[in-house]
Amino acid sequence: MSYVITIDGPAGAGKSSVAKKAAEILGIKYLDTGAIYRAIALILAKSEIMPDNEEFLREALSEIRIELRENGVLVNDFDVTSEIRTPEVDALASIYSALPVVRSALLGLQQEQVNYGSIIAEGRDVGSVVFPNAKVKFFLTATPEARAKRRYDERVKKGENADFNEILAAIIQRDKNDSGREISPLSVPDGAIYLDTSDMSEQEAVNFVVDKVNEALK
Ligand code: C5P
Repeated sequence: MSYVITIDGPAGAGKSSVAKKAAEILGIKYLDTGAIYRAIALILAKSEIMPDNEEFLREALSEIRIELRENGVLVNDFDVTSEIRTPEVDALASIYSALPVVRSALLGLQQEQVNYGSIIAEGRDVGSVVFPNAKVKFFLTATPEARAKRRYDERVKKGENADFNEILAAIIQRDKNDSGREISPLSVPDGAIYLDTSDMSEQEAVNFVVDKVNEALK
């Protein structure tokens, strides 16, 4: 029988890399729910549909088709995989994802992924709202400074311009938006295993997650 593992937590806590590697080891699929919010935010902003225009938003959302691929996201057949990974889209996703109309439009798409086999889903409300009956739930976090340092290193590695203080300020702002919103705020889901990765290597976090899942599957 298919099962679901969830990893929630703030930006830069290492959720994506840990979830991806754990999925590989466990032989299950990885579901990046942030990519769905990013893709929707990008397309809504490009279409100049403002967050306060609920009627237009509802109409647009009913016409947008999101397709999740092994290593990417398509919106209405356009590949937006790299376009959604910019600081601008970080901020846009945080704004549009706070809207109830957006969250309810994307709930079914996330939940139906389990029909294609077991998954490890990562996001902000996957353990609390999307998959409340998940087999094992994790909450991964780290200090804002540790998370900003990881983002900084990632950008430098890619040869991009990076300013540590700017990244830290953006992370703090995104935490505030994601935790302070009324609907599905970022929170530790009931029964979630809490893991602070500030002083952990990625491999240590992956091993921790895989061990806990294997224990639960016994
Ligand atoms: O995880 P990632 O940084 O890609 O997510 C981008 C944004 O999408 C988050 O800052 C958050 O506002 C939103 N998001 C959400 N619920 C999820 C996943 C992401 O609200 N399950």
